[in-house]
Amino acid sequence: MVISGPSGVGKGTLCKALLEEVKDLSISVSMTTREPRKGEVDGKDYFFVSREEFLERVKRNEFVEWAQVYGHYYGTPWSELKNALEKGRDLVLEIDTQGAMQIKEKFKEGVFVFILPPSREELRKRILKRGTENPDSVKKRLENFQEEFKYIFEYDYVVVNDSIPDAVEKIKSIYMAEKCRPHRIIKSWKGE
Ligand code: 5GP
Repeated sequence: MVISGPSGVGKGTLCKALLEEVKDLSISVSMTTREPRKGEVDGKDYFFVSREEFLERVKRNEFVEWAQVYGHYYGTPWSELKNALEKGRDLVLEIDTQGAMQIKEKFKEGVFVFILPPSREELRKRILKRGTENPDSVKKRLENFQEEFKYIFEYDYVVVNDSIPDAVEKIKSIYMAEKCRPHRIIKSWKGE
């Protein structure tokens, strides 16, 4: 399940709550060249690497998808998908629209969810409140929202994050409903 949406919309909080409630789900840990924010842990929030190392890994085809976002590289390592598959777990990818479109090309069975803020103004407030971005970075993140918004109809579902518990409930319902689609049930059904 791919979850995208603008920076500051609360994707991280929603994914964390979702994982606590749905035991079959794991979250993919991305690799990035951006600096860790205060409190972020290497190997848990991201794998933090240098640009050189990231580009070496691109050459070695180590990413399912990768993209440049706000001047930094971000990518989903193949190893994250393989680990989840081996354990028989479903995987949540919290990635931008460029990455989501690459996943859509590769995995027809993916489920794509876009998280929207209640309004543009609310998004600006949330980015400012987080206090981790400088004014230039806040501006970049708002501009990027305009770009990402253009891809909204490529997604299967849109969830407006006006209240965290409600938004989590909606994503959970999407996950549950998708698990009941005939092609997914028949794959593991032992009736034959
Ligand atoms: P942040 O720096 O705020 O953690 O993330 C910035 C943006 O990069 C967010 O939109 C986030 O979803 C996206 N992102 C995080 N990991 C990946 C990844 O592995 N691939 C892609 N394409 N985007 C990612």
